[in-house]
Amino acid sequence: MKFVSVVGSSPAVPFRDALFAGLAPDGGLYVPEHLPPVHQMRVSPDADLSGVALDVIAPFVDDIPGDALASIVSSALTFPVPLTRLTENIFLLELFHGPTLAFKDVGARFMARALGYFLEREEEHLSLIVATSGDTGSAVAHGFFGIPRIDVYVLYPSGKISALQEQQMTTLGGNIHAVEVDGTFDDCQRLVKETFRTRAITSRKRITTANSINVGRLLPQVAYYYWGAAQLQLQRPKTDAPVLVVPSGNLGNLTAAMYARGMGAEITRCMAATNANDVVPRFLSTGQLETRQSISTYSNAMDVGNPSNLARLRHLLGDDQLRADLRGMSVTDEDTLDEMRRTFEQTGVVLDPHTAVGVRVARSVPATSPAIVPATAHPAKFPDVVQRAIAQSVPVPPALSDAMKKKKRSVRVKASMEAITELLLASS
Ligand SMILES: *Cc1c(COP(=O)(O)O)cnc(C)c1O
Repeated sequence: MKFVSVVGSSPAVPFRDALFAGLAPDGGLYVPEHLPPVHQMRVSPDADLSGVALDVIAPFVDDIPGDALASIVSSALTFPVPLTRLTENIFLLELFHGPTLAFKDVGARFMARALGYFLEREEEHLSLIVATSGDTGSAVAHGFFGIPRIDVYVLYPSGKISALQEQQMTTLGGNIHAVEVDGTFDDCQRLVKETFRTRAITSRKRITTANSINVGRLLPQVAYYYWGAAQLQLQRPKTDAPVLVVPSGNLGNLTAAMYARGMGAEITRCMAATNANDVVPRFLSTGQLETRQSISTYSNAMDVGNPSNLARLRHLLGDDQLRADLRGMSVTDEDTLDEMRRTFEQTGVVLDPHTAVGVRVARSVPATSPAIVPATAHPAKFPDVVQRAIAQSVPVPPALSDAMKKKKRSVRVKASMEAITELLLASS
């Protein structure tokens, strides 16, 4: 399988090259040349997540031998992804049982291990630099923790992220370097971009970034939708194929869902559930794409005004087919809180605000079809919103409470390229 750029003027490359490059030379996102059909998945009650994931991922990755790919997949997916029933018709695919309690763990862990595999063979070393306003940094830090031959530098704005997010990034040590920048998130992003233009660094170090558009993050996400659809068939053998309602920001998770459907997973259709950042629902209903500045909401990991993975969806189906196949709906902050309250009162389940956006939209699915909503984060990550919605707190799982007890280790730097250069070169 080769990967091509959505822009279409870069050569097709194998998985390895797309993984290391992130973006294609023409600036486009990489997509698989075609979607391999995965034949009717064995829905046996004892099939495990790693096995299903391997079947889904393997056709995309022909440059890693099967046994090596199997061990990458099983060491990435060390936590369960249960499908639980929320209401008569709505099911949650719980993706928040990983180390940072959000679905981004899945992609980060697979990407880290795939990079590690190639670096080992090529006897190379890699420095990974990433700017974060909170959640991406902790998923990347945990995903890459302990991977040989990779050093990770996580740049975050000092004093501008939550204590919890900071503890999750700064207490790992080892190959994870937390860099506390005296500045804003935009400063951190600018420094990451400048790193790639600084010859003093690029001539001495192999360097890459780990943003959400990497194919290494997308593929394992396709796998868990296969898994979710198969679990539904097991739990409810006579049910119709589900509608998949995906809480969406940058649309990586939705792209993975559309790929799973395109490969033959039992999914009737997909829906994009957004917060007030409604560029995608508007595009789907009007055909006009109007990107804009993001607005901040309670479901802040979905505050995206110009979702980059939309390019992948348009490339997959073309605008007309995309608008025919995909529905979108936007949910206000008030309705998000209301959904958290209503779900809690009816079921006792506490939703995080992102998942609540999805559940709100899932309630509009006709009762003849079941709906699956990927539960993208654990509610304990958003104590303030939870408190506001249900006037209670949720117990903090050990993964979070343990991080709060550990000692913070970070390097504090000025928001200048000299400081970053010195830091990156110090460890070589
Ligand atoms: C990143 C994130 C999303 C949005 O996912 P995309 O793939 O960017 O659409 C939703 N929920 C949570 C909790 C997230 O961290």
